[in-house]
Amino acid sequence: MITNKKIAFIGAGNMASSLIGGMITDGYPAELIYAASPTRTRLDILEEKFAINTTQDNHFAVAAADIIILAVKPQLMGDVCSHLAEQSSDYRGKLFVSIAAGVTVERLQSLLADNQPIVRTMPNTPALVQKGMTGLFPSPEVSDEDIKTIDQIMMAVGKTCWVDNESDLNTIIAATGSSPAYFFLFMEAMQESIIGMGFTQQQARELVQQAAAGSAELVIQNPHIDLATLRQNVTSKGGTTAEAIRTFEEQGLRETVNTAMQAAVSRAEAMQ
Ligand code: NAD
Repeated sequence: MITNKKIAFIGAGNMASSLIGGMITDGYPAELIYAASPTRTRLDILEEKFAINTTQDNHFAVAAADIIILAVKPQLMGDVCSHLAEQSSDYRGKLFVSIAAGVTVERLQSLLADNQPIVRTMPNTPALVQKGMTGLFPSPEVSDEDIKTIDQIMMAVGKTCWVDNESDLNTIIAATGSSPAYFFLFMEAMQESIIGMGFTQQQARELVQQAAAGSAELVIQNPHIDLATLRQNVTSKGGTTAEAIRTFEEQGLRETVNTAMQAAVSRAEAMQ
């Protein structure tokens, strides 16, 4: 990992904590990491756990760092960036990374500076357990070296997918940002069905989660076997799985999934 850049997190919540934890595990020097938040509670936890620098002053963290990771809720982004811009201009030229959904590069540059180097990212919730998938889009001002650094930071909590067009982040939102909920819904429906067949909630949950985790692991461990083949491999002709799959197909599961993902993309477009 490139470990000579000072990194400031503005916001010290769940996502910042996961990223900091991942970076420290990857060997990033704690003394190069800063976290800023208006309240001490989260900062104290981070300081004690990771021995990073903490402050209640966003401007102090930004002034100290080479790279600033904006990890506040999207609705706070306007306030946080305009306060920084009001206080000084010494952040200009520094790299800003936003992890907030729906806040465009154009909007961030309008708040900070026209040619501010920005990487807009779209992480997902599994980043909290280091199994994330982050979509990233760099503004033209971002250097190759900075792209490498940000890639390594995000890889500390999972995998990365860089896109050439900012609008492709909307597809990433549908594909990975929102999709943990799709899988949860499917698991929830299975759980309800199993309970309906007489099992307890706990038994049903264990059956579903183990099947889901095992299936995901089979996919991950067999990258050269396409998904249709993996499915066919567990679907004997005339067997139980074939009956269930035939029912899903007849009920239009694929079409439903496609329509739902298109709906997520449309919503992401409308939210910008
Ligand atoms: P969170 O609520 O856990 O953390 C937000 C942090 O911002 C808190 O520590 C809060 O004290 C701090 N904060 C509030 N006002 C501030 C200010 N004026 N200056 C500095 N810090 C301030 O939220 P989170 O889940 O960590 O999400 C952070 C960002 O990441 C959001 O924009 C969210 O959309 C995005 N995101 C989160 C997830 C996820 O899985 N949690 C996934 C994708 C994207």
